[in-house]
Order: sequence, then C-alpha cells, then structure tokens
Amino acid sequence: MFSSILFKSLPRRTFSQARSFATKKLLLLSLDWKRPKDPPMSLGQASLFSHLKENNIPVLAKSYAVNDPSFSTDSVAKFIINNCNQNTDLGMGAYVWNERPLLSILSSLKKFQFPGRIILGGPQISYLRKSGLLEKFYAEAHVFIRGYAEDALVKLMQAQKIEPISGVHYANTPDDGSSTVLNPQTLSSPLLNGIVTPQPFMRVETKRGCLYRCAYCQHSGSNPLVEFPLSRVIKEVQWITAHPVINDIAVIDPTFNVGNSYLLVLKEFAKQKFSGKISFQCKAERVTGEFLDAVESLNTYAKTTLEFGLQTIHKKEARAILRSNQINKIKEVFLETKRRNINTEISIIYGLPNQTLESFRQTILFCNECGIKAIRAFPLLLLRGTILYNRKEELALKESNDLIPCVVESPSFTYSHWREMEKIAKVLEDSYKARIRNC
Ligand code: SF4
Repeated sequence: MFSSILFKSLPRRTFSQARSFATKKLLLLSLDWKRPKDPPMSLGQASLFSHLKENNIPVLAKSYAVNDPSFSTDSVAKFIINNCNQNTDLGMGAYVWNERPLLSILSSLKKFQFPGRIILGGPQISYLRKSGLLEKFYAEAHVFIRGYAEDALVKLMQAQKIEPISGVHYANTPDDGSSTVLNPQTLSSPLLNGIVTPQPFMRVETKRGCLYRCAYCQHSGSNPLVEFPLSRVIKEVQWITAHPVINDIAVIDPTFNVGNSYLLVLKEFAKQKFSGKISFQCKAERVTGEFLDAVESLNTYAKTTLEFGLQTIHKKEARAILRSNQINKIKEVFLETKRRNINTEISIIYGLPNQTLESFRQTILFCNECGIKAIRAFPLLLLRGTILYNRKEELALKESNDLIPCVVESPSFTYSHWREMEKIAKVLEDSYKARIRNC
C-alpha cells in the first residue's frame, strides 16, 4: 500500500530509475573540511564505507577537502560523471561547511543528466524536518536519509523496489520527518576490518548522540545516546595499541564521560599502556574523582587532554542556549585537573544571545583564574534545525555572509564589538596553537 502511494507520487524521472534497482553501485563522496593532520578518510565516511562493504554493496568512496585551495566543484562533478552508468547511485553528506559546494555539484549533475539516484544525508538533511523543505533546498536529490545513515543506505541499495525504510524520505512523497534508529550491534568497526589503516593521528568513537539539549548544537537531544558494544571498543583500543605508529587519538564522542563504559575504556587504554596523546570531550559537571583517577592512571604512559565546553559563565547567556552551567562545580573541576597536572582545554563561544564584549572578557578571565592556559573561542553558528536556528528572527541574530555563516550582531553587541571578540579569539587561538606545537 505504502509503496504504491510512493510510486504514484514519484516524478516520472525517479519512477523510471526505480525500475532498475538491481545490482546498483554506489559512489560515496565526502566533502570534508580538513585539518592538516586529518586522516585521508573521515571516520563518518569510513563507517559508512565499512558497513556497505560488509553488506557486499559495490561502492566507490572518495573524499575531497572543500577548504583545499585546489578544490573545485567541477572536478567533483567530472569525477562523478566519469564513474557512473545507469546503475550508479550517488551518496553525499550535507554539512554546514559544504552547503554551497554541494549545491553547485547538484546543479552540475542536473546539467550533465546524472542517470542514477542522488541520496543525501548528514546534519543539514537530518534536522530539516518540515515537510517539503528538503525538496525546496535540494531539488535535484531523489532520496534523503535523516539520522545515522549506515543501515538505511544499505537497505536502500539492497531494495529491489521503492519501499519504506526508517529515516528515509523519497523526494516528492509524503514526509513523516522520521529519523533512522541506530543499532550499534549491527555496525562493524572500520578500524578492525581494515577500512581505516593505522596512521599517526586517528579519530575513534565509543558512542554517538548526547543527553544534553544545548540550543546551538546539532547533537542536542534529537539523537539519543547510543554506546557501541564494549567488546568492539576494547578490541579497537587493543588494535590501536598494537600499532605504535598511532600516537595521537581524538575520541570524538560528543560527551565522553556519560553512559556505562567510559571508565572501562580509560582503564583499557591504561592497561594496554597507550603512550601517545589522547583527547576526550567531557562535561565538567559529570567529572568524578574516580574518572580523574582513571585519567591519572592512563597518564602513567599517555598524555591525556580533557576538553570542556564552557561557552559562558553568565547565567543570562547560558539560559539562552539552554545550558545550566554549574559554575562552582566547573571551577572545582578545573582546579582539580590543574592540581593533578591533567592537560585541560576549554572552549567558549562568542556571539551568544545576551552576550557583550565585556561579558565575553569576563568568561576568559574566569578560565584564567582557574589556571586554564588552553582556551579556544569559536563564533556562534546557527546550525540547521537547532533551537537557536529556529529562534534567529525572534532573537534578532544577524549572520555574516561567509561560506560558514556565523552570528556577528545582536541586540546585545554591535558588529564592531563582535570584531573585537573575533580579535581576542584569534589571540587565544594563536597562543593555543603555539602550546600545541611545543607539546
Ligand atoms: S554542546 Fe555538548 S553537551 Fe551540549 S548538546 Fe552538544 S554535545 Fe551535548
């Protein structure tokens, strides 16, 4: 019943493609924002690639860096056209940093009459829930996946006809706004199955999603916390420590110190005598003595960095972004990490609702008073689907016209005050980079 509704409402072009789904190949393209030490393939792309391979889907994966001066959308479109036939689909992730290049590639593919289905996923898709908006933003795409895409992509590629798949929306059909449900038991590890090869710097994940609801963050609330099986994570730790070339690990869990397994993960790294650098993004209010003991023990061989998002010390600003920062507890944790000689980094945001130049300075002063040397200040981005994104007009937040737009003016700060904050952020960043170089 559902399928026949879909078939009736699909545009003619999509319908004709739907008849030849068998033995499809997928071109899996990733348009990344790369930093110098990044591995050639992002962990997200590697996880998708790994799951497709495990399920015997023919796939060709390629990654581009949109911030590389030599990057051109024409060369991406050319690559796609040169590597496709009637049985090729294209999968791409939509992120805030690749929105413009992605749209340009989509319009080139229309010009070149790309013959297969264009499947889009990623945060820019996942958080666009209002019916009709995906088609409006990405008119050339045929299928959208909201949420973690591994399982949905495999099912889409295996389906012999258009069929309902959780989290999948077919263009120009009724849209229920639903997201995929991740079953971490079904995902193989791209580290353990050879998709990711050992290299000096690597990203790993032990969980996805977050318990908190910060108003500017795309992890906020809509993705429930999902932990990978401990047996998988333990094997990954053992794999990492068995490859001494790996000496710098970033654990990318949105908040590492929540859930059931984080202490065991720390203990396994310590047991395996990991001796490189390792960083974890943590929530200060959840830090316990037992956690810091485990970090200290890990530091017998390793050099651990705990990264904390503070954003602001001011109640009015914190309320606007739905953070209930417990400043006394946070201060206590920072003083304790200093006492225990644990590398600690704090990130803060400039451009927040209710913020002023002075209040921004006070937040930095607080970090200094807590003995924190590594402070990073990031501009506020209004990421699609977040609470702040939806309140942009109401809060009178004005954005820049950059490739990645950020908030540069609001009722509480002028553009020239924002420029001052930007300058301060740059000084902090230069000092942060100098510290990293000397570590
Ligand atoms: S900012 Fe951090 S704590 Fe807040 S929702 Fe995002 S990941 Fe969770």
